[in-house]
Amino acid sequence: MRIDIYTNSDSHDCETCGASWAQGGKVFIDGKLIVDLPAVAHCYGASSYNEDELLVIALKEIGVNVFVDGDNYHVTCHNDYYHGKSK
Ligand SMILES: [Zn+2]
Repeated sequence: MRIDIYTNSDSHDCETCGASWAQGGKVFIDGKLIVDLPAVAHCYGASSYNEDELLVIALKEIGVNVFVDGDNYHVTCHNDYYHGKSK
């Protein structure tokens, strides 16, 4: 089995918040597109995934669950740190 991860990034400028930046990408397993999460930088609701998270998401798509210290691998969105968890 071969897993290919292709990352991309996006940036967004806001007068209120300043610049934000997001990561995303695609994951192919044996040449088949499994995960397609293009980077979308935005003030709120931005989705950002590093290559580790992309890999974990892809593994889950094929039925492999990844645990860290007994808990599900936590896929974070780094803009939560910037804007807080409130929605
Ligand atoms: Zn903003």
